[in-house]
Amino acid sequence: MRYVILRHQVPAGRVEAHLEFHVGSIDEQENQRGMAHMLEHVCFLGSERRMQLQSGGLGMTSNACTDFNHTVYHLSLGTEYLSQGLEALADIGPPLTSLCRLVQLVHMYIHVT
Ligand SMILES: [Zn+2]
Repeated sequence: MRYVILRHQVPAGRVEAHLEFHVGSIDEQENQRGMAHMLEHVCFLGSERRMQLQSGGLGMTSNACTDFNHTVYHLSLGTEYLSQGLEALADIGPPLTSLCRLVQLVHMYIHVT
Protein backbone atom coordinates (compact mmCIF):
# COMPACT_ATOMS: atom_id res chain seq x y z
CA MET A 1 0.00 0.00 0.00
CA ARG A 2 1.18 3.49 -0.82
CA TYR A 3 -0.06 6.72 0.66
CA VAL A 4 0.39 10.40 -0.13
CA ILE A 5 -0.16 13.33 2.21
CA LEU A 6 -0.57 16.78 0.69
CA ARG A 7 -0.84 19.89 2.84
CA HIS A 8 -3.41 22.49 1.91
CA GLN A 9 -4.74 25.72 3.37
CA VAL A 10 -8.13 25.94 1.65
CA PRO A 11 -10.49 25.01 3.10
CA ALA A 12 -8.84 25.47 6.50
CA GLY A 13 -9.40 22.75 9.09
CA ARG A 14 -10.64 20.14 6.63
CA VAL A 15 -9.19 16.81 5.52
CA GLU A 16 -9.91 15.07 2.23
CA ALA A 17 -9.11 11.36 2.32
CA HIS A 18 -9.29 9.00 -0.65
CA LEU A 19 -8.94 5.22 -0.70
CA GLU A 20 -8.19 4.15 -4.25
CA PHE A 21 -8.12 0.63 -5.71
CA HIS A 22 -6.65 0.15 -9.16
CA VAL A 23 -9.53 -1.99 -10.39
CA GLY A 24 -12.60 -1.09 -12.40
CA SER A 25 -14.76 -2.08 -15.33
CA ILE A 26 -11.72 -3.05 -17.43
CA ASP A 27 -11.27 -6.02 -15.09
CA GLU A 28 -14.73 -7.40 -15.88
CA GLN A 29 -15.51 -10.16 -18.33
CA GLU A 30 -18.28 -9.53 -20.86
CA ASN A 31 -20.83 -11.39 -18.73
CA GLN A 32 -19.81 -9.38 -15.62
CA ARG A 33 -20.54 -5.89 -16.94
CA GLY A 34 -21.57 -3.57 -14.11
CA MET A 35 -20.26 -5.79 -11.32
CA ALA A 36 -17.33 -3.51 -10.36
CA HIS A 37 -19.71 -0.60 -9.92
CA MET A 38 -22.20 -2.71 -7.99
CA LEU A 39 -19.46 -4.01 -5.67
CA GLU A 40 -18.36 -0.42 -5.04
CA HIS A 41 -21.91 0.44 -3.97
CA VAL A 42 -22.17 -2.62 -1.72
CA CYS A 43 -18.84 -1.88 0.00
CA PHE A 44 -19.66 1.83 0.39
CA LEU A 45 -23.22 1.40 1.61
CA GLY A 46 -22.23 -1.57 3.80
CA SER A 47 -19.57 0.35 5.70
CA GLU A 48 -21.07 0.76 9.18
CA ARG A 49 -18.27 3.01 10.51
CA ARG A 50 -18.67 5.39 7.58
CA MET A 51 -22.44 5.50 8.07
CA GLN A 52 -22.08 6.13 11.82
CA LEU A 53 -19.49 8.85 11.30
CA GLN A 54 -21.51 10.55 8.59
CA SER A 55 -24.71 10.55 10.61
CA GLY A 56 -22.91 11.61 13.80
CA GLY A 57 -23.24 15.36 13.22
CA LEU A 58 -19.52 15.86 12.52
CA GLY A 59 -20.03 17.51 9.15
CA MET A 60 -18.48 14.62 7.23
CA THR A 61 -19.37 13.97 3.62
CA SER A 62 -18.46 10.86 1.63
CA ASN A 63 -18.82 9.44 -1.82
CA ALA A 64 -17.49 6.73 -4.12
CA CYS A 65 -16.99 6.18 -7.82
CA THR A 66 -15.89 3.48 -10.23
CA ASP A 67 -14.47 4.08 -13.68
CA PHE A 68 -12.53 2.11 -16.25
CA ASN A 69 -9.58 1.25 -14.02
CA HIS A 70 -10.21 2.84 -10.61
CA THR A 71 -12.55 2.43 -7.66
CA VAL A 72 -12.31 5.35 -5.23
CA TYR A 73 -13.88 6.01 -1.83
CA HIS A 74 -13.76 9.57 -0.57
CA LEU A 75 -14.30 11.32 2.78
CA SER A 76 -14.23 14.99 3.72
CA LEU A 77 -14.24 15.96 7.39
CA GLY A 78 -12.67 18.21 10.02
CA THR A 79 -8.99 17.63 10.85
CA GLU A 80 -9.89 16.78 14.45
CA TYR A 81 -11.66 13.64 13.18
CA LEU A 82 -8.86 12.42 10.89
CA SER A 83 -8.17 9.16 12.76
CA GLN A 84 -11.87 8.27 12.83
CA GLY A 85 -12.12 9.07 9.13
CA LEU A 86 -9.19 6.83 8.27
CA GLU A 87 -10.72 4.01 10.32
CA ALA A 88 -13.97 4.48 8.40
CA LEU A 89 -12.08 4.30 5.10
CA ALA A 90 -10.31 1.12 6.23
CA ASP A 91 -13.74 -0.34 7.02
CA ILE A 92 -14.94 0.25 3.45
CA GLY A 93 -12.57 -2.29 1.95
CA PRO A 94 -14.15 -5.75 1.76
CA PRO A 95 -12.85 -7.83 4.70
CA LEU A 96 -13.44 -11.56 4.52
CA THR A 97 -16.69 -11.54 6.50
CA SER A 98 -18.11 -8.82 4.28
CA LEU A 99 -16.89 -10.71 1.25
CA CYS A 100 -19.07 -13.68 2.20
CA ARG A 101 -22.05 -11.33 2.57
CA LEU A 102 -21.10 -9.76 -0.73
CA VAL A 103 -21.18 -13.10 -2.55
CA GLN A 104 -24.70 -13.67 -1.19
CA LEU A 105 -25.77 -10.21 -2.43
CA VAL A 106 -24.27 -10.89 -5.86
CA HIS A 107 -26.19 -14.16 -6.07
CA MET A 108 -29.40 -12.34 -5.07
CA TYR A 109 -28.66 -9.68 -7.70
CA ILE A 110 -28.15 -12.30 -10.40
CA HIS A 111 -31.41 -14.06 -9.49
CA VAL A 112 -33.43 -10.84 -9.43
CA THR A 113 -32.18 -9.54 -12.79
ZN1 LIG B 1 -22.31 4.62 -8.37
